[in-house]
This record gives sequence, C-alpha cells and structure tokens, in this order.
Amino acid sequence: MHELPVMNGILRVVIRHAAKHRVSRVTAIALRVGKLCDLDAGWMQHYFDYLTPGTVAQGARLDIEWADVVMHCAGCAREFTTEPKSQGFGICPHCGRSGGEILAGTGYFVKSMAAQ
Ligand SMILES: [Zn+2]
Repeated sequence: MHELPVMNGILRVVIRHAAKHRVSRVTAIALRVGKLCDLDAGWMQHYFDYLTPGTVAQGARLDIEWADVVMHCAGCAREFTTEPKSQGFGICPHCGRSGGEILAGTGYFVKSMAAQ
C-alpha cells in the first residue's frame, strides 16, 4: 500500500500550486497515472480524503487518467503499448519478442486543478 506517501506528495504539489495562484479552495484534481505505477484509484481517493482536511484541497475529487505503458522492443526496435495485467504484457506485437525498454507508463503527475 504505497498510495499514502504518493498522495502526500501530490497534495504538497497541489498546495504549493494553489498558494502560487492565490486559490483558496481546490474542487478537483486531474492526475495522469502510469498503468505500471500499481496505484489503486479507490485507495488514492481514500488517502487523499484522509490527508486533506484543513487544507485547500479538502473535499476535492480526483480525476484519474491512466497512461498506457509504452515499450521499445529490443528485437525489432519498434514501439508498442502493452497492458500490464494482460497475458501478453511486455511482448512485442510486431515480432513476438518479450522485453525491452519501458518508455512510458511508470510515473504520475498532476495534470490540472479546478478551483473555486
Ligand atoms: Zn519487436
């Protein structure tokens, strides 16, 4: 369960951003989360609600957009997207080889915020 420290970090970004733009209340936060982050949307909102009372983000809704995992095939050098929870994860659809460099789908960041 590593959602708690992750949400703590995201909250700090939101608070800093809100202060910079003189926002007194944040109503929604759009997050882009890589599918390889192993974060659960339900737990993210749960920990966020646990951390935010008394902050500008109290009661804010999280809108999570999942980012595909993109890999660079070590066999044919082409890029492909792959589903982490599928059987064919990490297997190149072009040449059938497994593995390669992961180009996207591991990070997370605050995309935008809605304020009141
Ligand atoms: Zn390939």
